[in-house]
Amino acid sequence: MIFDIMTLFPELVDYVLGESILGRAQKSGAIEIECHNIRDYTQDKHRRVDDTPYGGGKGMLMMAPPIYNCYEAILKKRENVSGERKVIYMSPAGKILTQEKAEVLSHCEHIVILCGHYEGVDRRIIDEIVDEEISIGDFVLTGGEIPACILVDSVARLVDGVLAAPECYLDESITGGLLEYPQYTRPYEFHGVTVPDVLISGHHENIDKWRKERSIELTKERRPDLLEKYERR
Ligand code: SAM
Repeated sequence: MIFDIMTLFPELVDYVLGESILGRAQKSGAIEIECHNIRDYTQDKHRRVDDTPYGGGKGMLMMAPPIYNCYEAILKKRENVSGERKVIYMSPAGKILTQEKAEVLSHCEHIVILCGHYEGVDRRIIDEIVDEEISIGDFVLTGGEIPACILVDSVARLVDGVLAAPECYLDESITGGLLEYPQYTRPYEFHGVTVPDVLISGHHENIDKWRKERSIELTKERRPDLLEKYERR
C-alpha cells in the first residue's frame, strides 16, 4: 500500500513514521510512505503557500494552487498504481476516525493525505480533490501532520506484512469490540504485586475465560457504549 502525504512539514511526518514497526515495514516494502512538501509546488516567487481569507477573519489559509500542483505530481508519479485510491483531508470537521474506518481504508492500494495548517485550506481544493474528511477527535490541533501520522499508523498496521502476525491485533482494545484485558510480563512480582495465578496456571481455557471476563468488566466500567454494541452483535 502507498501513502502519499501532502504537507508543509514533511520532516515532522517522516520522523514519526520512519521509526519502529512502520519504519521496518517501509524497509521491507510492505508499505511505502512518501511526504510531499506543498511549498515545492508554489509558483509564488516568495514561495508563499497561504494568504488571508476573503471576507476577513484572523489567521491564514492555505491556497489551492500549490496543493493542486502537488496532487497532480503525485497522480503522475502513481499513474501505474492500480486498485482503489482515496484522497483524505485531515480535518476537525471530518468524520471521526474509527477502527472500522481504518479497516476499510486498509483495502485501498493508494491513500493520498492532505494536511492542513494555520486556519486550514481553501474550500475549493477540498471540493475538487478530496473523497473524505477525517478527524482524529473532537479537539483542534495546529496542523494535520499528527492526525495524518495517526491515520497512517492505524491503517498500515492492518496491511499484510506490517505486523509479525495478524493475530496481534485481533484481541486488542476496540478491534474485537471490547477493551483489552490487563496484561503482565516478567518480573512475577513488582512492588509487592504478583501476576494473577490463572495466568501462570498453564490452563488455556481458564486463561481465556479470565481474559474475557476482565475485558467485559473493563469495558462495562469505561465504555458501556462499546459493551452495548458488542452485546447486540
Ligand atoms: N479552521 C479549521 C476549522 O475550524 O475546522 C481548523 C484549522 S486547524 C487549526 C489546522 C489544521 O489542523 C486543519 O486544517 C487540519 O488539517 C488539522 N487538524 C486540526 N485538528 C484536527 C483534528 N481533530 N483532526 C484532524 N485534523 C485536524
